Amino acid sequence: AKEQGKNQAQFFDGKMEQTVCQKTMIETALYQAIEKRELKLFYQPQFDLVTGDMIGMEALIRWVHPEMGIVSPGVFIPVAEETGQIIVLGEWVIEEACRQIKQWNEQSGRSLQMSINISPKQFLQENLVNYITSVLKETNLPAELLDLEITEGVAVFNEKYTIEKLKRLKQIGVHISIDDFGTGYSSLSYLRKFPIDRLKIAKPFIDGITEVEEDAAIVASIIVLGKSLKLRVIAEGVETNEQLRILRSLRCDEIQGYVLGKPLPKEEFEKVYLF
Ligand code: C2E
Ligand code: CA
Ligand code: CA
Repeated sequence: AKEQGKNQAQFFDGKMEQTVCQKTMIETALYQAIEKRELKLFYQPQFDLVTGDMIGMEALIRWVHPEMGIVSPGVFIPVAEETGQIIVLGEWVIEEACRQIKQWNEQSGRSLQMSINISPKQFLQENLVNYITSVLKETNLPAELLDLEITEGVAVFNEKYTIEKLKRLKQIGVHISIDDFGTGYSSLSYLRKFPIDRLKIAKPFIDGITEVEEDAAIVASIIVLGKSLKLRVIAEGVETNEQLRILRSLRCDEIQGYVLGKPLPKEEFEKVYLF
C-alpha cells in the first residue's frame, strides 16, 4: 500500500507539472496572439423558428495560429479565464462584435442582434457595465441589439450581486441570455428575480430529443417554462431536421445549430447570410 501511495504521488506530480507547463505555454502564446492579432471571431446564425428569418448571430472566438491552425476556444478560454487574460480578450470580443454588427446592419438595412459570450470572471469585473456602455456609445449600436450570454453558474454565484449587475445591464438596454440552460444544477427560483430575456437550451438535451424520452420531456418543459415567464427560448446545437421538426412542434422560439449554419468567418458569413 505504501509503494502504491508513492507511485500515486509521483503520478499526480508528473501530471500536475505537465498541466502547469501546458497552461504556461498557452498563456505565453496567448499574449502573443492578442498582439499579433491572431484572434478571430466566427459567427453562427440564429433563426426565428416561426418566420424562418435570421434574427442575429453568436460571436465565437477562434485562435488562428500560424502553425497549429485553428485552435478552439475550448482549449484557451479556460486558461485565459484562469490567468485573467480573459478580461483583455473579452474586451476585444465586445468591441469587435459590436463594430461588426453595427456595420452589417448599416450595410444591410436590418436590425440583427449580436450575441456575445461573457465568462464568469468577466461578468464579475467591476468595470463591465461601464465598458459596455462606452463601446455602445463609441460604435453607436442600439443597446437592444447586443445580447450577453451568461451561464447559470455565474447567475447564481452571488445572487444579490448578480441581480444588481443584471439590473444595471438592463438599464442600459442590453439583452441577457442564460447559456447552457439546464446544466447548471441550480434552483429555478432565480428565474423569478433575474431580469433576463432568453433561455438557451443546452445542447446535450437537444442531442437526445429524438431518442431519449426524458430529454424530450426536459426540452418541452423548458419551452413551457420560458413561455410562462415571458422569456424567449432558443435551442442550440441543433443538428438534424428531425430535431428541428420536434422543436417546431414544441413551439420553441429560436434555433441555432449546424443544421441551419455552422460558425463562419466574417467574409463567408457575409456571402452566405447577408449580401
Ligand atoms: P457555447 O457558448 O456553448 O457555444 C456553442 C458551441 O457549440 C460553439 O463551440 C459552437 O461552434 C458549437 N456548435 C454550434 N452549433 C453546433 C451543432 O449543431 N453541433 C455541434 N456539435 N456544435 C455546435 P465553440 O465555438 O468551439 O465554442 C466553445 C465554447 O467556448 C463556447 O460554448 C463558449 O463557452 C466559449 N467561447 C467561445 N467564444 C467565446 C468568447 O468570445 N468569449 C468567451 N468568454 N467564451 C467563448
Ligand atoms: Ca454561448
Ligand atoms: Ca451554450
